[in-house]
Amino acid sequence: DKKVYYFGPSKTDGDGSMKQLLGGKGANLAEMTDIGLPVPPGFTVTTETCADYYKVGGKLPAGLMDEVRENMKRMERDTGKKFGSDSDPLLVSVRSGAAASMPGMMDTVLNLGLTDKSLDGLQSATGKTRFALDAYRRLINMFGDVVMGVDHHAFEDEFDRIKKKHNAATDNDLGVEGMEELVDAYKKVYKKHTGEQFPQDPYVQLEKSLEAVFKSWNTPRAIRYRQINEITGLQGTAVNIQTMVFGNMGDDSGTGVAFTRDPSTGKNEFYGEFLINAQGEDVVAGIRTPKPVKEMPRWDRRSYDQLIKIKTKLEKHYKDVQDLEFTIERKKLYILQTRNGKRTGPAAVKIACDMVKERLIDQKTAVLRVPPNDLNQLLLPSLDPKAKRDVIAEGLPASPGAAVGKLAFTAAEAADRTQDGEKVLLVRRETSPEDIDGMHAAQGILTSTGGMTSHAAVVARGWGKPCVAGAGAIHIDEKKRKITVNGRTFTAKDTLTLDGGTGQVLAGEIATIEPKLSGDFATLMKWADRMRTLKVRTNADTPEDSQRARDFGAEGIGLCRTEHMFFEGSRIKAMREMIVAETEAARRKALDKLLPYQREDFIGIFTAMKGLPVTVRLLDPPLHEFLPHDAKAQQDLAKTLGIKPAKLKQRVAELHEMNPMLGHRGCRLAVTYPEILEMQVRAIVEAAMACQKKKVQAKPEIMIPLVGTAEELDLLRGLAEQTIASVKKEHKHKGRLDISIGTMIEIPRAALTADDIAEHADFFSFGTNDLTQLTFGYSRDDVGTFLGDYLAKELLPKDPFQSLDATGVGQLVAMGCEKGRKTKKDLKLGICGEHGGDPSSVEFCHKVGLDYVSCSPFRVPIARLAAAQAAV
Ligand code: PEP
Ligand code: MG
Repeated sequence: DKKVYYFGPSKTDGDGSMKQLLGGKGANLAEMTDIGLPVPPGFTVTTETCADYYKVGGKLPAGLMDEVRENMKRMERDTGKKFGSDSDPLLVSVRSGAAASMPGMMDTVLNLGLTDKSLDGLQSATGKTRFALDAYRRLINMFGDVVMGVDHHAFEDEFDRIKKKHNAATDNDLGVEGMEELVDAYKKVYKKHTGEQFPQDPYVQLEKSLEAVFKSWNTPRAIRYRQINEITGLQGTAVNIQTMVFGNMGDDSGTGVAFTRDPSTGKNEFYGEFLINAQGEDVVAGIRTPKPVKEMPRWDRRSYDQLIKIKTKLEKHYKDVQDLEFTIERKKLYILQTRNGKRTGPAAVKIACDMVKERLIDQKTAVLRVPPNDLNQLLLPSLDPKAKRDVIAEGLPASPGAAVGKLAFTAAEAADRTQDGEKVLLVRRETSPEDIDGMHAAQGILTSTGGMTSHAAVVARGWGKPCVAGAGAIHIDEKKRKITVNGRTFTAKDTLTLDGGTGQVLAGEIATIEPKLSGDFATLMKWADRMRTLKVRTNADTPEDSQRARDFGAEGIGLCRTEHMFFEGSRIKAMREMIVAETEAARRKALDKLLPYQREDFIGIFTAMKGLPVTVRLLDPPLHEFLPHDAKAQQDLAKTLGIKPAKLKQRVAELHEMNPMLGHRGCRLAVTYPEILEMQVRAIVEAAMACQKKKVQAKPEIMIPLVGTAEELDLLRGLAEQTIASVKKEHKHKGRLDISIGTMIEIPRAALTADDIAEHADFFSFGTNDLTQLTFGYSRDDVGTFLGDYLAKELLPKDPFQSLDATGVGQLVAMGCEKGRKTKKDLKLGICGEHGGDPSSVEFCHKVGLDYVSCSPFRVPIARLAAAQAAV
């Protein structure tokens, strides 16, 4: 089996479709070469080979190095250079590249092939002694660090020592003599830490580097990155071995990264940064602050013009925004890599709409282009333009959105303090892949060096986390845990605000405003709405939430949890009175006090929903949730209720349950206390009639929770129908008042007997929170104690309370649908668990044929888009 795929002017084995085998980068290099871009020739070792490496217990598979040598020979012919030669040596880079993009996660070795012998060759071929020495010392350093595990600082210390000795202020000030000393010193460091000489056989360098890349696939930070980004099912990484070209050969050389469009705003303008006389990693690492690509023509117009042509060619070919790396070696332009550019949510939406206008893609593709969860960033608040701003520094607007938090100075600190419930901003000179955890935990990220394509910027944009990069005025003192900027000092206790949209860093907490949902967002959603078949409702139990959800496009309320209404103000008193009541009469007296509140609640919600359906769920939680549990609160309550504290204490004790979530809750409450159901149904009916009088259409649906048997529903439905009839009669109501009655399917037995239950239901709504809890037997309130272990050990692919477990819980949902519809062909089916707003769960709901999903207001647009993506 073929382990190596070549790309270059003489032949190209692979193509862009072979991502799984060649990795994203390898497949792209093949494709780029194919469409005629100036790509330095090279070859890709397959991801399968990486898997084989692990299969045979961490050894390079037999025959691999023979294939590598054959391909090296072809590279030598294509470039006219020779590996290890003392005249014009071929140098190569070795890079990882998996099927999914993992920026900065894997190791890279550059300048491979330099030895004492080929160093002379490089010097004589380029006529640049210092450059050649610099390339050599970089190789010894990187090879030592990445391949042999030598501490990077051991090399840095030598560099500092020699710079000092030669009075060199910066790296570039060190002359030839110093560089020669440095190479010798690095070799000694290498020898000291590895016990071996730095390899003088270039093929030994190549073989060891290949192995190091394979090993880097399973480092903790790579594993962690895959976890955070939910990357699963990959074989391993491919390895790309490619001819080196140099951006650091002098002032006619340079390197840069660019996006075919602005990845932050989506604006259609070539966007990027470059550094003169530098290697590629200098840009990404954010060590020097690069120049915007717009300034490139003044330096090298020909290469700039060529880049602009390539930009158009790339977008025509890939039909998406490309993120490319280029190098200019003595005025000759090379493209080193291109990939679909990561972008912010707002940019994704704008680019999708623009590309439809430009006829690059159709509406369907546009709808598929935007990851539904990224809409979050458009729905998030931004800083109130009217709020007073105390700008302490300005950096680059690396990733939009507003973030407020106290300062954390290391990734570990950010992660720890977030765990303790604090909101923090991670403040670093620059970030590196080791900081991933802390970056993820922080509200936002602030760096003092680095550009728009630095590690911090790229990672933050990928997550949609606000980031201001390269705020150079800020001096960070990590040890003393403070920053100073223009004479002001801020410590870990101070709060700052970041405006990722402008790059401003502000003192204190700044007010934020709600986003406006218009323009491209509205266009995209309009397309999505035309494509989807699933309806999208919301879970809301206040008029404000209902209104917001309508603004976000909700087509009804799928779950109005009535219990939330009883916690407020004086209601809780009446509620407690009802609960501790010992006779039906006393209970009814308390319920009479609750009735007007409840009726007003419903009038408010029905009015906000203007004729859209509103599913009202009857009281669900265990009653003791409403009771005060500490002695002082119990005393107060006893006093207001006019009973003895001991009596109240006893009643609270009576209501105590070992497993309240499996206890006296849901429809079981109405079985014991039918008068609670009666009050709630009365409130619904009276509210609907009151709305009708005001010419407001009301479409209530009564939902009975936690049903496990058909008999329960039969009983309670009867009771609800009786109540509706008697309230109507009492009010002498004439005309229509359609109130449908349905149930939640949230107990496994309900799903299993859905055919019987459907006899008594006008609709089902899957309560997948409880259904997940009861199917897995995981307490939804306590799952956090072990979920982390389960995810880390890959016993679960995802948190099943966030993303529906299609394999298990999904079967019950599918069965519930099928059995329910066997009994009633047009039984209305929905879902109102948290999963209703999770894109992959929405896709599942579409597949099993639900009529609607219901989710929290902020997730409504996400669900609309996900539903469209599921339908096309
Ligand atoms: C559910 O169980 O999925 C549900 C929506 O109800 P609750 O979360 O209120 O238990
Ligand atoms: Mg429930």
